[in-house]
Amino acid sequence: MTTSPACCSIVPPYLLAALASSDDEHLAARAQGTLRVDEELRRGRVTAEARPGGRTATPAAEPGTTGPQRTIHDAQGGTDLPGTQVRAEGDPATADEAVTQAYDGLGATWQLWWEAYERNSLDGKGLPLVATVHYGQDYDNAFWDGTQMVFGDGDGVVFLGFTRSLDVIGHELAHGVTQYTAGLNYQGQSGALNESVSDVFGVLVKQHSLGQSAGDADWLIGADLLAPGVKGVALRSMAAPGTAYDDPRLGKDPQPAHMDDYVETADDNGGVHINSGIPNKAFHDLAVALGGNAWEVAGRIWYDTVTGEISADCDFATFAGLTVAAATARHGEGSAEAEAVRTAWSGVGVTAGSSAPGDGGTATPPADPGTPTDPGTPAPAPGTEVAVRRTGGFAGRTRERTVTLGELPDDDGRAWQSLLATDRLQGLAAATDREYPDAYCYGVRCAAPEVDVTVPEPVLDGDVRDLFERTLRGPDLA
Ligand SMILES: [Zn+2]
Repeated sequence: MTTSPACCSIVPPYLLAALASSDDEHLAARAQGTLRVDEELRRGRVTAEARPGGRTATPAAEPGTTGPQRTIHDAQGGTDLPGTQVRAEGDPATADEAVTQAYDGLGATWQLWWEAYERNSLDGKGLPLVATVHYGQDYDNAFWDGTQMVFGDGDGVVFLGFTRSLDVIGHELAHGVTQYTAGLNYQGQSGALNESVSDVFGVLVKQHSLGQSAGDADWLIGADLLAPGVKGVALRSMAAPGTAYDDPRLGKDPQPAHMDDYVETADDNGGVHINSGIPNKAFHDLAVALGGNAWEVAGRIWYDTVTGEISADCDFATFAGLTVAAATARHGEGSAEAEAVRTAWSGVGVTAGSSAPGDGGTATPPADPGTPTDPGTPAPAPGTEVAVRRTGGFAGRTRERTVTLGELPDDDGRAWQSLLATDRLQGLAAATDREYPDAYCYGVRCAAPEVDVTVPEPVLDGDVRDLFERTLRGPDLA
């Protein structure tokens, strides 16, 4: 299918966007810095993944190795990856707490996959786990770049250091597992399942590490990241989607908890970070109903489902049917476990079943990349209206601003004129051939010349992305 935007940052891009337009100029500047670094990084990653071997270019583990193969690097506030190696597998702890947290977090993630599911790392073949800490300045993010983890130290005002959150580390690494197994399309319902699977295994990493039962766990994603004073408890709540935060700087948690409130949208790859609340709650409700450790019975059913016969365009109903089948295969027809799975799904308004191939993940197809503008098109006049829209991100919030070219600073007005007079945007959209979980998507619409194009952030050139950001931000914080 056509791809969408991407990357694997843990802070919902929409949250960063909200901060970037905060009234607190210092905070806004920091968030803007993070957004800029994200862009450089994503571009770097695309380049790295284009090399021979693609996403599996990381060297394979030595045969017979059973244990995490971790290497931690220090970017020392810069953005070169991976940075200076500061700790390898088996080395003693250093005095740097971030290094210790990253090392331990990668280890805890490996332990869940190995001890609960006998899976040796993300690819099942001992893929080495590489991480970089102290990335960038006041960097409000953490992500999996397809080959390694990267952690910022946070801005200290809204977000604390990103090595603090075990479920966040687990979430991003789970995107790697999904990539190697179900390959769920990052669009519509299959995309929301992709996001949900990352939340499920991310939270299970934390519970497994703490030895916490389903009933004792908090079922929060990113609780350790929020600084004191932020009005919220986490980035997401699997027990009560939609209630994680309500903060003047971050907005309100947009997740639905039931199909009745399913959000139909073309934004955020069809609401992948929003509607994931529905399967998240189904998993939570199942685990709590079963009792005991969530990674054992409920987690195993989800693991069997993701690693079994599943199509990349799987929708909620089909996924629910596959989890019932997985529970039946392991526990028997009509077993309490299989019935509990069915009940959990019906509780969130999903009827377990199957649907015709191709039904899933296509509820909100990507925007038409648009027809290339005639190269002879004259530069648009200053009165030309352009709508810029940014969607996607960890929880799927949208920002939009419509401007006339004449109201922009001269340089930006000229940049838009040249952008709209050529087919550069359409070319970037057409060149997008892969998926980028957790990244932004930029949409640009204009009536004359006619432009209606959606482009994933990682494929944008830095100057274009900066232009979009300045335009979205407006004059107040320009
Ligand atoms: Zn994600």
